[in-house]
Amino acid sequence: MSQIIYLDNNATTAVAPEVLEAMLPYYRQAYGNPSSMHSFGGELAHDIEQAREKVAALFNAQNTEILFTSCGTESDNAAIRGVLEAYPEKRHIIITRVEHRAVLSLCHHLENRGYRVTYLSVDRQGRLDLEQLRLAIQPDTALVSIMYANNETGTVFPVDKIAEVVKERGVIFHTDAVQAPGKLSLDTQRLHADLISISGHKLHAPKGVGALFIRRGTRFVPFLIGGHQENGRRGGTENVAGVVGLGRACELVLEHQSREREHLGRLRDRLEQGIVRQIPEVLINGDPEHRTASTSNVSFSYIEGEAILLKLNEYGICASSGSACTSGSLEPSHVLRAMGTPFTAIHGSIRFSFSRYNTEAEVDRVLEILPKIISGLRDMSPFWTQFKKKK
Ligand code: PLP
Repeated sequence: MSQIIYLDNNATTAVAPEVLEAMLPYYRQAYGNPSSMHSFGGELAHDIEQAREKVAALFNAQNTEILFTSCGTESDNAAIRGVLEAYPEKRHIIITRVEHRAVLSLCHHLENRGYRVTYLSVDRQGRLDLEQLRLAIQPDTALVSIMYANNETGTVFPVDKIAEVVKERGVIFHTDAVQAPGKLSLDTQRLHADLISISGHKLHAPKGVGALFIRRGTRFVPFLIGGHQENGRRGGTENVAGVVGLGRACELVLEHQSREREHLGRLRDRLEQGIVRQIPEVLINGDPEHRTASTSNVSFSYIEGEAILLKLNEYGICASSGSACTSGSLEPSHVLRAMGTPFTAIHGSIRFSFSRYNTEAEVDRVLEILPKIISGLRDMSPFWTQFKKKK
C-alpha cells in the first residue's frame, strides 16, 4: 500500500507504541484471570488498579470513581441506563439533536419503552441555548446527557455552564467526552458532571476498552450484570491488556496535552487556510470560537462528499464524510442538518481530524491534491454548472 495520510482520527486512532509496549506482556505471558485464587492470575488485579489510578488522574478523580467498560458506546449506555434504573419514578431525559448515535439511538429506543425525550436544538454554528435547556428541565427529569465535543464538527459545548444549570435543579448530568481527551480538560474538580464517558481507541489506546467516570455518591445501577468484577458495577472478566493500555494512553495524554493541542491547532488552521485560499464556495462548519483543535469539517458546495472521499482514497488520504462514514448510510449528517447547513453544502461535507502523529508535510500534500479533486468533480456537477450560470 502506498503511504497513507491518516486524517480520520475522530473515527479511531493509531495505538501509541508506548501503549502497545505496555500491553504486550499481558498477551505474551500474563494471561491469567484477575479473579483467580492463584497469584499468576490474581496479581493482575493489582495491575488493573494501577491502570485505574492513571485513568483517574486524567479526571483528577478517585480510583473508585472509574469504571472500565468495553467502548464509548458502552460507557454512554451504562451511564444513561444506570441512572434511569436508579430513578425508576423519573421518565424524562434531555439530550441534544447532535449527540453521537450511542446516545441518540439509545434515546430513540427508550422512547419506544415509554420514556419522554427532549431533543435540544442548536444554532447555525452548532451552539446550544442554555435558556432552552433550563426551560426543558421538568420535575421528573432523570438525566441530562450532553456531549462535550462533537465528533463531526469539533464544536465544544460549555459543559461547565451546562452542569451549573442542571445541578441547580438537582438533576444528574452525563457528558459524552469521547472526543475530548488530549483536546479538552477532564478535570472533574472543575467540570461538575456526574458521569463522563471516554473510549480507548480515540486516544491512542486499543479498541475494546473504555471508561466511565461516576462521581462519588451518584446513584447508578450496573448495566452489565454478572460477576463481582469492577466492585460489582460491571460483570465480565476484565480486558487486562486493554485496561493497562488505556491507563498508559491516559498517562501520555496528561504528559503531552498542552504541546499536542498547539500542534493539532496548527495543522487544522494550516489546512483550513489553505482550503479557503485555493477553493471557492467552501464552508467551515462548527463553532469558530469553541472547536476542538483536532477537527475540521468543511463543506465543498455542489458536489458529493462520498465522491471526494473516494478520490482522496486514491491518493491514500483517509478522511470521512458526515453522511456515509459515520452512520453507514447515505443519509445526510444529522449534525449538519440540525445546524441548518444549506442543502447545497450538506452533501459535500468532509471531516478531517488530526492526531499527534500528523505532520505539516501531510497537510501540504492534501492541499496539493484537494483543489484538483474539487475542481474535477465540480466540472462534472450539473449543480455547479447551474450555480456558475446564475452568478
Ligand atoms: N461518542 C462519541 C462522541 C464518539 O465520537 C464515538 C465514536 O465515534 C462514540 C461515542 C462511540 O465510541 P465507541 O466507538 O468506542 O463505541
